[in-house]
Amino acid sequence: MKTLRLVLGDQLNIKHSWFQKIEQDVCYVMMETRSETDYVKHHIQKIVGFFLAMRNFKRTLQKQGHEVYYFEIDSINNCQNFKDNILHLIKELNITKFEYQEPDEFRLSKELDDFTKNLSIQSEIFSTEHFLTTRDEVRKFFENKKTWRMENFYRMMREKYNILLDEDKKPTGGKWNYDYANRQKWKNDNLIPLRINKSKNVSSYVELIKKLNINFFGEIDEKNFIWPESREQALLLLKDFKNNFLKNFGYYQDAMHDTEPFLFHSLLSFSLNTKMLHPLEVIQAVVNIYDEKKDHDLLPAVEGFIRQILGWREYIRGVYWAQMPDYGQNNYFQFNQTLPGWFWNGKTSMNCMRVSINDSLRHAYAHHIQRLMVIGNISLLLGLNPQELHLWYLGVYIDAIEWVEMPNTIGMSQYADGGFLASKPYNSSASYIHKMSNYCGGCRYNPKEKFSRDACPLNVLYWNFYIKQQDRLKGNQRLGIVWMQLNKISHDEKIKITEKAKAIIKDIETL
Ligand code: FAD
Ligand code: SF4
Repeated sequence: MKTLRLVLGDQLNIKHSWFQKIEQDVCYVMMETRSETDYVKHHIQKIVGFFLAMRNFKRTLQKQGHEVYYFEIDSINNCQNFKDNILHLIKELNITKFEYQEPDEFRLSKELDDFTKNLSIQSEIFSTEHFLTTRDEVRKFFENKKTWRMENFYRMMREKYNILLDEDKKPTGGKWNYDYANRQKWKNDNLIPLRINKSKNVSSYVELIKKLNINFFGEIDEKNFIWPESREQALLLLKDFKNNFLKNFGYYQDAMHDTEPFLFHSLLSFSLNTKMLHPLEVIQAVVNIYDEKKDHDLLPAVEGFIRQILGWREYIRGVYWAQMPDYGQNNYFQFNQTLPGWFWNGKTSMNCMRVSINDSLRHAYAHHIQRLMVIGNISLLLGLNPQELHLWYLGVYIDAIEWVEMPNTIGMSQYADGGFLASKPYNSSASYIHKMSNYCGGCRYNPKEKFSRDACPLNVLYWNFYIKQQDRLKGNQRLGIVWMQLNKISHDEKIKITEKAKAIIKDIETL
């Protein structure tokens, strides 16, 4: 009797119960396959980041005494897909049972479910022991509720895990949410500490990927590859964040700056999504800092950070599993504009978009507000096809795995699900970007103008969006102020707006 256990590239959880004892009749398989490198065009750092972390995890397992079979991407016996590699090992090693952990992506979950259904040996599926909710817990929580708003779920999670609650179970500090305190612009006023991230020699990986003709985009060199490859490095990142960045994380959570791609953000999404870190240990580390210091000024940052992980991250995953397999096809506004070329090279005159796309291409990272209020916002206003955009987001970011990327793109940023996830479209004219960043200062466009030659394109695109989508959105209570402002715009000006917007979209490549 011998059992083969599959460990996927985003299941690098050394604390999983599987690995807590050495079992003679159990072996593990991990694999780099073309089916994974090629299902979407990835950023080069994403491919390298996963290979590095997977190979490191294999070495850790082997050092602990586990028997591990590892298919490198260029191994001669690599069939380049899960099914054939597993079948090969089952035969070679006389395997009598196959085990795997719940894949987080619907695509892989279906593939492995179908595979095991037809397998002649016994198989069993296990939890990844990573998330703080089961796949269908969010769906069950909202079962009889009218809307799926994150805030209600988040409060339940605070109570369930007893996070930031006083002895009488009331929220610490008296409030559940300190979002209002988290909206400052960064003006070089608070020094951003140096990051501890060490550069890595990744040239052999890059050569390998090029040699195999794997399709990729984005930049990589030793200076800009900063992602952890092991749990130890991820723990150092966490320690650095809580000691040096957390106190300003809250204030500047929504800020953007052209020379500071990371500001005070944690950069922990890759470590979390590959499961090198557990969400509860990240949350606990941050709560402990607050408990130790008892500094009330720290509360908005601590609460804001916890809300992202305990609230948004789990909620997003629940939406994904409740809505798949059809969620990715949503296109509420029927937008079909193809992505302009500058998504792939950053060559646009809109400084906000240029900086955000260049940060993404250079680091395989952009922070939340760049993803949402710059790239997502402008994509929505330009009427880009949400499915094409989803594939871009899925490829470009180091942390992009479909369960978390898709609801954020399709739902939160593009409102393509018709408001299932977001209570209103997240979009703005130039004013928000001007308020929260220094981007407009370095832009060829003028954020205050609407119709002049140099006017910021967002100013007409924003009103064009609401003029065109009025019928679809008119019942939305949260848009009252938008309709009030729209009513004040004269009929003639509305025509001018829609005509100019049409011309802008027609010349999208030259923006
Ligand atoms: P911080 O700002 O330091 O936040 C801490 C942690 O909170 C993050 O590491 C992340 O785990 C969690 N978090 C914060 N916001 C969200 C959110 N909206 N959904 C889920 N988790 C959240 N996040 C991904 O992990 N993968 C993606 O592919 C992804 N795609 C996105 C696409 C769009 C269009 C948008 C608007 C957001 C997307 N996000 C995604 C959410 C968020 O932008 C990233 O998690 C965050 O920028 C990662 O950087 P950080 O670790 O420095 O985060
Ligand atoms: Fe972006 Fe408009 Fe500001 Fe330029 S002026 S940076 S396009 S918001």
